[in-house]
Amino acid sequence: MSASRSSAVRSRSVGGPAQRATWRLGAISLLLVAAIVGLFAKYGANVFSSGGSSDYQSGDEAVWEKWRPVDRSAESDTGAEYAALRETKPERRPTANDRSDLELKDIPFDGAAAYEYLKQVCAIGPRRSGSAGMRKQQELLVAHFKKLGAKIELQRFQTRHPLDGSVVPLANLIVTWHPERRERVLLCCHYDTRPYPENDPNPAKRKSDFIGANDGASSVGLLMQLGKSMPKVEGKVGVDFVFFDAEELVYEEGGFKRGDYFIGSYWFANEYKRKPPKHKYRAGILLDMVADAELHLYKDRHSLAFPAARPIVEEVWKLAAELEVREFIDAKGHLVQDDHLMLNEFGGIPTIDIIDFDYPRPGDETYWHTTSDVPENCSALSLAKVGWVVEEWLKRTVPK
Ligand SMILES: [Zn+2]
Repeated sequence: MSASRSSAVRSRSVGGPAQRATWRLGAISLLLVAAIVGLFAKYGANVFSSGGSSDYQSGDEAVWEKWRPVDRSAESDTGAEYAALRETKPERRPTANDRSDLELKDIPFDGAAAYEYLKQVCAIGPRRSGSAGMRKQQELLVAHFKKLGAKIELQRFQTRHPLDGSVVPLANLIVTWHPERRERVLLCCHYDTRPYPENDPNPAKRKSDFIGANDGASSVGLLMQLGKSMPKVEGKVGVDFVFFDAEELVYEEGGFKRGDYFIGSYWFANEYKRKPPKHKYRAGILLDMVADAELHLYKDRHSLAFPAARPIVEEVWKLAAELEVREFIDAKGHLVQDDHLMLNEFGGIPTIDIIDFDYPRPGDETYWHTTSDVPENCSALSLAKVGWVVEEWLKRTVPK
């Protein structure tokens, strides 16, 4: 994820708490609008003109009522509801009750294996969009998911490098399970890494390599492990894993930002709308920063603000409570700018974000976009907890 706290916004030197909150709110609104306007300008006005026609035949529509994308033009109260959600930080601090007693052996999802994948991905080194590291990661993932029997597509496109204008080749990796199923859900994450650890407390390290163990590799590792049980998923609903490129091909220095967020997810959502495929995505879950060794998963305020996505938030957190994964905290967290915004806004796919933005813990110096975002600060147990909840959501809550 990205814009919700830029390094400038996070700076400790900007006023007292109240002033910081105001700054943050202002900066967030500005960044979000800038990101969307920028992307719109860059990729043209075809967002709103859906070309092609879909030969998608819907089944029993009533089954999907709970995740129905809402015609926002017909709504009158979204503005007020949205405004009420536009706080930017967790509404309360974590307590002892927000820590579960679960151990790896109690959890059916193999977190240790997911953690090994996380380390394998980190061992490649930086995976910036368009880099040799990204290509290596793509090869690794293609081989991995092919072996598991998935259908694989690299959705290729390109952008301009934010600093020198050169062409950067990009690709979203789409991993499809049971391609014949027309009703589908989306599990997704970004797989590019931030160009530099520009938040590092040590200025000398801010141009060094960024490994992105939590911010990048964690959700990749989780999906690599989850892929193993996908061939066995029964019912009429198929699952796609989508790995977005160029979530954060953004350079920040001294409060100045070059580049756009969410280029890959915007491209994916726009293509889905413009050239409707034979299938339909009914719901989506975005995973980001899910391996923090100190796990606190608040409900992202943006996910709550999309009327069609909100029920998914409630389903997931309710399920986590049933499983006693108490790290899914029943409280509002940050207002997170992430790939799910593109899916909701431009793709019409109700999608939530499961993200632990307090890395390692709320109110402390962050490891986010620093050289401390390494496997040692992540944990197999956290991956197990999140992977379990997501897998159970697929099994129990997605209509059969
Ligand atoms: Zn990031």
